[in-house]
Amino acid sequence: MQHFQRVFVGGAWRATAGGEALEVLDPTHEAPIGSAPRSGRAEVDAAVAAARAAFGPWSRTPPRERAEHLTRLAAALAARRDDLARTITRELGMPYELSKRVQAGLPAAVLASFAKLASEYEFERRVENSLVLRVPLGVVGCITPWNYPLHQIVLKVGAALAAGCTVVVKPSEQTPLCAFEFAQLVEACGLPPGVFNLVSGTGAEAGEALASHPGLDALSFTGSTRAGQRVSELAARNLVRVSLELGGKSANLILDDADLPRAVKNGVGACLLNSGQTCSALTRMLVPRARLEEATRLAVEAARGFVVGDPFDAATRLGPLVSSAQRERVRDLVRSGVEEGAQLVCGGVEAPAHCARGWFLTPTVFTRVERGMRIAREEIFGPVLAILAHDGDEHAIELANDSDYGLAAAVWSNDAARAERVARALRVGQVELNGGKFNLLAPFGGFKRSGHGREFGVHGLEEFLTTQALQR
Ligand code: NAD
Repeated sequence: MQHFQRVFVGGAWRATAGGEALEVLDPTHEAPIGSAPRSGRAEVDAAVAAARAAFGPWSRTPPRERAEHLTRLAAALAARRDDLARTITRELGMPYELSKRVQAGLPAAVLASFAKLASEYEFERRVENSLVLRVPLGVVGCITPWNYPLHQIVLKVGAALAAGCTVVVKPSEQTPLCAFEFAQLVEACGLPPGVFNLVSGTGAEAGEALASHPGLDALSFTGSTRAGQRVSELAARNLVRVSLELGGKSANLILDDADLPRAVKNGVGACLLNSGQTCSALTRMLVPRARLEEATRLAVEAARGFVVGDPFDAATRLGPLVSSAQRERVRDLVRSGVEEGAQLVCGGVEAPAHCARGWFLTPTVFTRVERGMRIAREEIFGPVLAILAHDGDEHAIELANDSDYGLAAAVWSNDAARAERVARALRVGQVELNGGKFNLLAPFGGFKRSGHGREFGVHGLEEFLTTQALQR
């Protein structure tokens, strides 16, 4: 059991005013594994005040020194990778081997990339008789979700600290344990008090207290579109700058000259990763109408290859969903797919027979999905793939763009120029061409209801900067 009873504010561990705790459940065994403090306005006020007090000195710390702090922290994260991955697998359910690489390994690499950027970025530039300075925005509130819990925190904190901002982090109430382990590392690495502050709690209490706080200069939010709208309204009252990373319904456009088996196999993997609980999951597979049957057969074959089970079992490729409520939301959408006439060819609402306990679902594939169906329009956030038929490149582009979301997409074609032409027509923030690999330095973020922030690399750093001009 991991019971964290204090929040991390101003470099010290402090008891909360109410003394209440939020229980954390293990989705594999449906059993308590620990708890985190339930913060409210008092803790958020103290954390914002601490971040404000630390801002002056930290913002004036030379970027190279800030980079050294981040490098130390990145090394500490890398050294604790396996322990952090274990905690995240216990609170979230992602298979442990994958957690080591993605949930814990990636944040260490991200922090190191921001350390490098801090030391290389040109924070000032001469424009005729002016010196244009890129200066830190100030105190940043960071509100993060549960699906990549440590990564989402580090992505914001790394960029904000590199920019010279100070932060107050409010992690998801479903997966707060890894955030506390991260705060312990921050403390051990000797980051100046108040530069990083952690207050755990619910969205309605700690989250709203932070989003509406007049002491913030910026709010960086990752989560659902609905909560993103709410925090934007709250922050707007204080004219606090908001950056949003929200949901998605990303399309995988497989053109008629593509290597179909490779594209489908890769696409199924990109849909099911983390039990489908990935904002950029490729959940709509668009295939040439003439090859719909073949693509469906290949997708079912690939989905059946995902062994569902205990995430600490090395053979497991798919763990449980994060919570019972999440599984019920997914089941509701699966039922809607059947009711609206899509063809269910794999999986469904049941857990696999050998998973009597835990919030498991079987990988699910629908084919003959029509664009108006809920499973084609709504973010499911579960292991569910929707296959739609297209009648050529223009039709595929039209289907892909017919979405409230605009986070990511993929295009498959044997003709690189054709794939790029299609990609340029998509209203999304990031497109993978023929399985192009993830780039830590490329901007990631959405169009439309997927939000408007950008994270990673120099674009991520610039989210936390504003400008000042000195005329001579
Ligand atoms: P969520 O919106 O329920 O919660 C996210 C965070 O916001 C949590 O910390 C929560 O406590 C807080 N929150 C909720 N309501 C709030 C309110 N009224 N005021 C202030 N804070 C509030 O989302 P979730 O279920 O944790 O995460 C899943 C969602 O996150 C999905 O929609 C997914 O697509 C999205 N997501 C997006 C990205 C991206 O980069 N675009 C990355 C990961 C997840």
